[in-house]
Amino acid sequence: MVLKGIGASPGIAIGKVLLKKDPELKIEKRVKDNTEEEIIRLKKAKEKSKKQINELYEHTLNTIGEEEAKIFEAHGMILDDPEFFGQVEEKIKTEKVNVEYALKEVTDIIVKVFENMDNEYMKERAADIKDVSNRVIRILLGVEITDISKLEEEVIIVAEDLTPSDTAQIDKEKVLGFITEIGGKTAHSAIMARTLEIPAVVGVEGITSKVEDGDIVIFDGDEGEVIIRPEEKKLEEYKNKKEKFESFRKRLEELKGAKSVTKDGIEVELVANIGTPKDVDGILRNDAVGVGLYRTEFLYMDRDQLPTEEEQFEAYKEVAERLEGKPVVIRTLDIGGDKELPYLELPKEMNPFLGYRAIRLCLDRTDIFKPQLRALLRASTHGDIKIMFPMISSIEELRQAKAVLEEVKEDLRKENIKFNEEIEVGIMVEIPAVAVLSDQFAKEVDFFSIGTNDLIQYTTAVDRGNRQISHLYNQFHPALLTLVKTVIENGHKAGIWVGMCGEVAGDPKLIPILIGMGLEEFSMSPISILKARWIIKNITQQEMKEMAEKVINLPTAEEVEKFIDDNIKIDYI
Ligand code: PEP
Ligand code: MG
Repeated sequence: MVLKGIGASPGIAIGKVLLKKDPELKIEKRVKDNTEEEIIRLKKAKEKSKKQINELYEHTLNTIGEEEAKIFEAHGMILDDPEFFGQVEEKIKTEKVNVEYALKEVTDIIVKVFENMDNEYMKERAADIKDVSNRVIRILLGVEITDISKLEEEVIIVAEDLTPSDTAQIDKEKVLGFITEIGGKTAHSAIMARTLEIPAVVGVEGITSKVEDGDIVIFDGDEGEVIIRPEEKKLEEYKNKKEKFESFRKRLEELKGAKSVTKDGIEVELVANIGTPKDVDGILRNDAVGVGLYRTEFLYMDRDQLPTEEEQFEAYKEVAERLEGKPVVIRTLDIGGDKELPYLELPKEMNPFLGYRAIRLCLDRTDIFKPQLRALLRASTHGDIKIMFPMISSIEELRQAKAVLEEVKEDLRKENIKFNEEIEVGIMVEIPAVAVLSDQFAKEVDFFSIGTNDLIQYTTAVDRGNRQISHLYNQFHPALLTLVKTVIENGHKAGIWVGMCGEVAGDPKLIPILIGMGLEEFSMSPISILKARWIIKNITQQEMKEMAEKVINLPTAEEVEKFIDDNIKIDYI
């Protein structure tokens, strides 16, 4: 039987199923006259949960890393939240009900509020609250769940979903990979699989009712294909595929330290996108030659007030220093759209992606913008920092942003604070108006970085986060490729460098076309770097130039993709 899901972490896994089916928590409403006793039960269960969470924190810290362990710091905070548990106690007292019931009711209400927010970050917080609450309820009910921390043999975990507590216990030596029913590419479990570098497929509907413990399954973490109880022939086929994949992975390792240069000698820069200083680890591990996009908004999230200039300075300085003089493109605050900051209390909008966001907000709120620019300039003496403005839509906006930057520079000069006077300033090209007018913009900036994630959304009027129309969101759309070509050509005519930091920059099928168009900097997630280097080393720019010219004249995205599939063959062996 073959099922299809979403490939979440590359690699092929073949092995026995361990079905992680957690018992349903059956919670009945009971009347309790002795409410004090219920509250004592709650306190005891919380204490026990705290102990478990602390153990998970230590375990994750030692086996995976600090950033991943932070999840359990957050869980500890939820457990200590007086407001949340105050509501539970209140419910027990006023309604004279059992603690399990009160906890479940309060959790459901809060989780619903978080889940309904149009914000991935808040949705993840909902998962954390549910995770903590279920832990406490399980302790209260004395329910045991499948322990995946002490496995005797190698398995493939199959589950409805894996919570942060589950993934933290995964032992890489024993878990060959996992398959879940829910989740997308950006779900917590998917991100963890990529960090652990084990294959995973998510979003496989119905899988938990179609397999049993011990069944053999095969899955492909790239394609998202899952084969249950395969025939001998399939098994052989996938064993071969797995061997090929693993030897390819080894070949990629050998590319560390090599240049990213085409067969006809054109060298490009492969750099990476990061969200926090911690992500620099991935950059160094995968041999990126710099940062092409540092999304600073993460510094502003997961807290209840704006970060200070000093905090920002420290973060930017850390990244610049760890990169030892390699380029670090730092994007100024890109908040709004799908990324909210609860403490700014921005008004709800009908069209947040077309609204008060990013540079628009920063130009309006110089009390937020200026401290960031000060921090960036101060950090610029510690490495090769470049400043990039997001969501620019007109020349006036660009000039205004540059004027604010000049004011900040002047303040620093007056205060005798040093910064790189030659600091490069560029923009994201992610709005069609800028792409069309890129000849004009090129005269006023030092570089362009094409943000295809938004450029696709605005060019084709397809909300990038709307599942219902996700089939219309297509990186092969000829209109996108035409705009990209225009931007690269106009940048070069004016003598500035042109890069790309949207997902397209790491797309194996489009990298050759971008090489053909003359793109010189590709910024992608660190794990895509070595494969991109492989592709580049196996093509010539001359040939790709011809391909790019042909592709750009095709009328549909489907034909573009097919043309690439039929004409650009890269050996992955
Ligand atoms: C983009 O829009 O392509 C981009 C890189 O920025 P973000 O995904 O953060 O909007
Ligand atoms: Mg963008």
